[in-house]
Amino acid sequence: MTANKSLLCLPGDGIGPEVMGEVRRIIDWMGDKRAVKFDVTEGLLGGAAYDAAGTPLPQETIDAAHKADAVLLGAVGGPTYEKLPFDKQPERGLLGIRKELGLFANLRPALVFDALAEASTLKLDVVKGLDIMILRELTGGIYFGQPRGVEDLGGGKRRGFNTLTYTSDEVQRIGEVAFDLAAKRDKRVCSIDKANVLETTVMWREEMTKVGERHPDIELTHMYVDNAAMQLVRNPKQFDVIVTTNMFGDILSDCAAMLTGSLGMLPSASLGAPDDTGRRPALYEPVHGSAPDIAGQGLANPLAMVLSFSMMLRYSFDLADEADLVDQAVQNVLNKGLRTRDIMQEGKQEVSTEAMGDAIQAELDALSS
Ligand code: NAD
Repeated sequence: MTANKSLLCLPGDGIGPEVMGEVRRIIDWMGDKRAVKFDVTEGLLGGAAYDAAGTPLPQETIDAAHKADAVLLGAVGGPTYEKLPFDKQPERGLLGIRKELGLFANLRPALVFDALAEASTLKLDVVKGLDIMILRELTGGIYFGQPRGVEDLGGGKRRGFNTLTYTSDEVQRIGEVAFDLAAKRDKRVCSIDKANVLETTVMWREEMTKVGERHPDIELTHMYVDNAAMQLVRNPKQFDVIVTTNMFGDILSDCAAMLTGSLGMLPSASLGAPDDTGRRPALYEPVHGSAPDIAGQGLANPLAMVLSFSMMLRYSFDLADEADLVDQAVQNVLNKGLRTRDIMQEGKQEVSTEAMGDAIQAELDALSS
């Protein structure tokens, strides 16, 4: 199988370039051993871009991102940039590129590898085998709704206000992504709202139901967010795809992340709307940040970045076999007892970033021989 697909890599700051380096090796491996070829361009984002070009999001990066079929991002930020003016800070680059690409759908899988199930703070039988997907609407809702602000009421009193707003189009758009995801998984969508209190989410529920009617092969259920928070820690395996608003998704995805017990293992994807040719802007990145405390020491866990790459294979390029191969390689190295320091457990073998990358390469070779 061949795939001549263009890919923009933005290593960023801190451990970003280290973890990206291990993915670049997998990209080369895919080209050599599977004839799956990517045209890879490397670009600048965040602090690295500020150092080189005086801005965290250079125009060349924006142009390259629009041209690419998918963008792969390491991480941005670091203490040296904290005192910069707001608009020059690395995180502005990240928010800027998400906005430029119109990324409205944020996918955060919560997957527990058997070998790491004991790292969770929850009981083994609650999390073992967990594989759920949280889909968060990323560009609407109360984080962006107008009016917003704080007004002076006089007499030393103030009033703060934000607005929870969604249009039916926005709900249907994220709903369609949820059903597409579920079609490739266990065919179940649970839409989370607060329809017993908030009118906007009554509308959310109604629109989601309409989307569900267009996908009769997929089961749709609804749940209130307070119950969902409880269910996520009580019995997370009951879910397949969870779809929810920006703010509820922000909170629930972090909650679900902790079911897995480790920041260095969590990938994510953000998707935009398809254009006329069906091409969908997409950015893949680990959930973790630039980890300045361990940067440059060979301590970074590259697996969240590797799993972000596997999501890219699956969701941007429909290369499910290759994605499965990468996921299996990750599972095998963990089963063999290899651990970077962040996921180290008693009796296991601690390895560096590069040695973890070597082990992944060896597994890929073994799995495809
Ligand atoms: P962080 O995720 O960078 O680090 C939190 C802790 O987890 C640290 O102890 C770090 O060493 C550890 N850690 C994170 N990723 C790891 C990995 N792959 N392997 C091993 N250990 C890992 O969060 P933070 O310390 O709050 O933020 C550091 C910088 O990153 C800040 O400038 C922040 O703004 C930025 N940040 C960027 C992103 C992003 O680029 N998407 C996300 C979060 C934070």
